[in-house]
Amino acid sequence: MNIPPVIHWFRRDLRLADNPALLAALAAGGKGGVLPLFIVDKRIVNSAGPTRVEFLKDSLRALDEATGNHLVVRYGSPLEVLRSVMAESGATQIFVTQDFSPLGIKRDEVIRRELPSAQLHEVGTPYIVPPGSIFSKSNEPFKVFTAFRRVWDTFEIARPLDAPINPTWFKATSESLEGLTALAGRIVPDYFGNLAALPIARPTTAGEAEAHRLLELFQDRVDAYATNRNIPGLDGTSMLSPHLRFGTIHPRQVADALIGDSEDRRVFLSEIAWREFYSDVLYHNPQSISAVLQPTMRHLPVDSDAAAVERFQLWARGQTGYPLVDAGMRQLLATGWMHNRVRMVAASFLVKHLHLDWRWGAQWFMWRLIDGDIASNQHGWQWAAGTGTDAAPYHRVFNPTLQAERFDADGTYVHTWIPELASVDAPQCLQPGGGEGLLAPPDYARPMIDAKTERDEALRRFALARELAGRKHV
Ligand SMILES: Cc1cc2nc3c(=O)[nH]c(=O)nc-3n(C[C@H](O)[C@H](O)[C@H](O)COP(=O)(O)OP(=O)(O)OC[C@H]3O[C@@H](n4cnc5c(N)ncnc54)[C@H](O)[C@@H]3O)c2cc1C
Repeated sequence: MNIPPVIHWFRRDLRLADNPALLAALAAGGKGGVLPLFIVDKRIVNSAGPTRVEFLKDSLRALDEATGNHLVVRYGSPLEVLRSVMAESGATQIFVTQDFSPLGIKRDEVIRRELPSAQLHEVGTPYIVPPGSIFSKSNEPFKVFTAFRRVWDTFEIARPLDAPINPTWFKATSESLEGLTALAGRIVPDYFGNLAALPIARPTTAGEAEAHRLLELFQDRVDAYATNRNIPGLDGTSMLSPHLRFGTIHPRQVADALIGDSEDRRVFLSEIAWREFYSDVLYHNPQSISAVLQPTMRHLPVDSDAAAVERFQLWARGQTGYPLVDAGMRQLLATGWMHNRVRMVAASFLVKHLHLDWRWGAQWFMWRLIDGDIASNQHGWQWAAGTGTDAAPYHRVFNPTLQAERFDADGTYVHTWIPELASVDAPQCLQPGGGEGLLAPPDYARPMIDAKTERDEALRRFALARELAGRKHV
């Protein structure tokens, strides 16, 4: 008699090593083995930008190879796919890594309710400390990172688990990964206009082996992290974000390799903790995907007319005439990734100099970023916009030129991404338009706004928002 397999449903855990859910599935599957399943949920892929979908495809290709070509890819709603895979294989047990995204939580509730014949086992999470585990003394979720971090630090980081040795995989029919390309990016917001047609970026290499290669390379750089992480012209950071996003590596593995007593290593661990903080904030505030977290900022006036759409599109194409912003937006277009310092400056520019809705910018980032993660992205944006938990004070407006002079003093980053400024030396290449009058390089964009005037306008709008919020309380 054939022994039925158990299913391991891969979601944000596209790896074999240190995957507790997969190990539990293999233990439960015994001789029947494990059917390694990935479900292409059209609802999700339709609104994901094509570059991240290519990165996902590459990650799945690597996973397929790692399983000796046993990965079973199916298209459809998770409920329908699981129903048919269970019927075909006789499996009744499904192992997953717990998903904490609002969409994932709802999806898993539907599976539990509508598929009572399935036993859904949630084992492990994509975090060192699962969202919803950390509370203040008064039993409230934290709204400020430093307080969250203090408690987060008291949790022990478990040692990573090895990859399974000679796992028994169950063979089942799989569909081609190529179908993903046609499904990607079908739902396009109006204000994108022709932006959606811009060529996709060439994503970096994906997959578990690549994640470990990056981690190994970063071990030689981590001891300069605290200083170099802010310089976008240097390889000062780990570049692991897309891998943490898709789970080709677990933060536990990263922390285990890099943890140490130096200040650099402590700062690095803090960044991992930011990722966990934002997932915790999202867990407690699922509405924060689109709703501002600071009640006083609900009334912040933003522009949305045709001129606003035009401003948005210049920003997205990297044609604002502000070199650091443009370099960042072009790095995003070319690679699907942007340096953190420049993400902050570019996001602040969109909200505080162009007076646009942070959600427009967040949507564009989610469209282009290979590490696009709803918790880190939406809360990174709310931080920059001054509307989120732990937000930058609303009156803090990054000056894009001063930021360039401070963090790209020799112009390395600007020169890399803006060819029109290649022959303009620093500090001139860091100035609006790359210089004024006869010094202005003729083929680079003129500054689309005056930063000082628009900063004042932003402060006026923020003051108005606070006033309106105050009146609503009366
Ligand atoms: C407006 C804005 C949008 C952002 N959108 C995303 C996003 O969609 N996905 C994403 O992973 N990160 C996002 N970030 C956070 C951060 O920019 C990236 O995580 C970081 O640039 C990734 O590069 P790295 O892996 O080399 O980072 P490293 O400096 O090497 O840090 C290691 C890891 O820590 C985590 N991390 C670092 N900084 C942050 C942070 N500020 N917030 C949360 N986690 C952090 C990431 O997982 C990162 O891979 C955003 C930041 C801002 C300001």
